[in-house]
Amino acid sequence: ARQDAFQDARQPATTRDGHTIEVVANIGTPEQVAEALRQGADGVGLLRTEFLFMEREAAPDEDEQYAIYRSILQAMNQRPVVVRTFDIGGDKPASYLHMSNEMNPFLGIRGARLALEHNDLLQAQLRALLRAGEGHNLKIMFPMVSSLEEVEALRTQVQQAQATLSAQNTRYAQQVEIGIMVEVPAAAVMADVIAPHVDFFSIGTNDLTQYVMAADRTNSAVAHLADALHPAVLRFIRMVIDAAHTHGKWVGLCGELAGNPLAAVVLLGLGLDEFSMTASFVPLVKQRLRQLGTEQARAIALHTLGLPNAQAVHAYLESLA
Ligand code: PEP
Ligand code: MG
Repeated sequence: ARQDAFQDARQPATTRDGHTIEVVANIGTPEQVAEALRQGADGVGLLRTEFLFMEREAAPDEDEQYAIYRSILQAMNQRPVVVRTFDIGGDKPASYLHMSNEMNPFLGIRGARLALEHNDLLQAQLRALLRAGEGHNLKIMFPMVSSLEEVEALRTQVQQAQATLSAQNTRYAQQVEIGIMVEVPAAAVMADVIAPHVDFFSIGTNDLTQYVMAADRTNSAVAHLADALHPAVLRFIRMVIDAAHTHGKWVGLCGELAGNPLAAVVLLGLGLDEFSMTASFVPLVKQRLRQLGTEQARAIALHTLGLPNAQAVHAYLESLA
């Protein structure tokens, strides 16, 4: 079965009733692009750009970033590439930003909050991305967004970068989808209010789970609580997908949960449009999705939402396999 999964990996993942689901890769360095293609990913659902910003004395300038984004987009050859703006803070500090010591860095200045405080850095990244995206299938995504006000401020930042490039007569991508990661519970419950202001959502279950369960993702002592298959997390996922679809927006999921073959039936049943994962899981998840039908998956997903805990969800899903 593993062999078949690998051979089919470059084909789309179409369910038994004819729904094609995008199965894309998470990548964190340019070297991982080749592996994503080799594993049959339909695109990149999360390019983590922190590799450009970490472990160095100064932030990368616009041209350095442009060259790297451009080469990744070229290698992906018109497949969609969702690039996340730098998600520094939390467990990912950067010395040149002189970030203050925080008692709870995961609840502090990280992701979009940090980007809005350092908008010179954000502007350089956005200009580099908009230039690199010209003629390619680029989508830009912001991490750790917790409110509509942040979405509005981030969209203003995009407009500002576009205005700067226009004033310089520099060519750039005119039609870039702008989305946010939904990984803060407040953004998830407000998804119906936020959806009209974005082109897509991508659910970050790694962080969403730690915030919903109040269980630090880096603390092994609470790892048993930080289970993305907990019905509490699944209910948030349902809320986000339903809100987005009501407003005609698509939803991806780029936390580790997307690469778990056991979870595929639940996520398909909840209506997820795009699964983004570590490249090596792409063949198996595609294979799993091809075995499923949407209506049956929907019934299974709804059943999991009524279960009392993560253990019960695991046991139920394993009993189906
Ligand atoms: C997430 O939080 O689920 C996610 C994909 O982002 P990261 O793991 O980089 O925080
Ligand atoms: Mg995250």
